[in-house]
Amino acid sequence: MTAHIEAASPHTMNTYARVPIALDHGQGCHVWDVNGKRYLDALGGIAVNTLGHNHPKLVPALQNQIGKLIHTSNYYHVPNAEVLAKKLTELSGLTNVFFCSTGMEANEAALKLARKFGHDKGIARPEVVVYERAFHGRSIATLSATGNPKVQKGFEPLVEGFIRVPLNDIEALKKATEGNPNVVAVFFETIQGEGGVNPMRAEYLKQVRELCDQKDWLLMIDEVQCGMGRTGKWFAHQWAGIQPDVMPLAKGLGSGVPIGAVVAGPKAAHIFQPGNHGTTFGGNPLAMRAGVETIRIMEEDKLLDNAAKVGAHLKAALEKALAGNPGVKEVRGQGLMIGVELTKPCGALTQRAADAGLLISVTADSVIRLVPPLILSDKEADEIVAILVPLIEAFLKE
Ligand SMILES: *Cc1c(COP(=O)(O)O)cnc(C)c1O
Repeated sequence: MTAHIEAASPHTMNTYARVPIALDHGQGCHVWDVNGKRYLDALGGIAVNTLGHNHPKLVPALQNQIGKLIHTSNYYHVPNAEVLAKKLTELSGLTNVFFCSTGMEANEAALKLARKFGHDKGIARPEVVVYERAFHGRSIATLSATGNPKVQKGFEPLVEGFIRVPLNDIEALKKATEGNPNVVAVFFETIQGEGGVNPMRAEYLKQVRELCDQKDWLLMIDEVQCGMGRTGKWFAHQWAGIQPDVMPLAKGLGSGVPIGAVVAGPKAAHIFQPGNHGTTFGGNPLAMRAGVETIRIMEEDKLLDNAAKVGAHLKAALEKALAGNPGVKEVRGQGLMIGVELTKPCGALTQRAADAGLLISVTADSVIRLVPPLILSDKEADEIVAILVPLIEAFLKE
């Protein structure tokens, strides 16, 4: 069984360069493969498994929901959609929510909001400011907003109406939009995920908020990866004390059950009218229950504090262990969203870490990304360091 997992999927499309292991079950921050080998999960399904695996509070709640209703359709009210929407508006300070099923779908809805915001103001060809190295998804519009040529190549023509600027440079943003009456929104991740764990500085976030207010643009912040408590606040932009007008969410919101959301403030909450947008799966009873329970458990178990505390511990331990190593460019990130940038491409480490019993990912070619479940303990953080650091050191000597 061990040898042939790679060749064992001749009927699925070849969209991922998969590590040749198949996972069977999990408990907390650990997973086991079909051969019984145990791994510490520092990837968390790419920042999705907020509560880890087989959580003792989440699983019975979802089992209960599955026995009642999984899906109904948006032709009828789903009471938990209102409960979850209310909760998200309280946590964000915004006012209304649209539910969907993925991050790409949330961003697609945000881009539609921006365009209609423009059309409602009489702007026939609205333009949205996006960023270098951004990642917003794989639909034609969201890949066009993405700042990675590898994601775009082969899918041209791209959707028009995007202006691209560098991160953390307010003058560049002003210059790129100067005298352009068609700009309707500025759209970015507070901490870029796929782009290599690149944070926007708090000062910059405040400057952009101010500029958006001045110009009557929508500030749209993609918190799909960095949101939902990962950095130690509900949403990463809250560290800067600002609020967006539109905030797409997904990944961690349902602890693994597919769910996406667009949370909007007064400037954007009433742009969509019946018939403007929709989705079959969005807001279904199973996904809504997963969202409600995820947030409830996060609050009960104080997981924001845990993410901040264990994240700081993990980052400090990595910095200490890797200090002075010329092959390590930087350890960065916040809470349990940490990137270790090396001076050379390090995709090979994904397999080596798995061999050593640790699940990680490498993004932007040379950045090791750690986005474990928010239930991670200090002890498990130490375990990540103990496995990962020797692998990095050996790799850099090659
Ligand atoms: C993962 C991600 C997306 C896309 O989400 P999907 O659920 O894969 O469509 C969009 N934006 C950011 C910031 C992401 O990390």
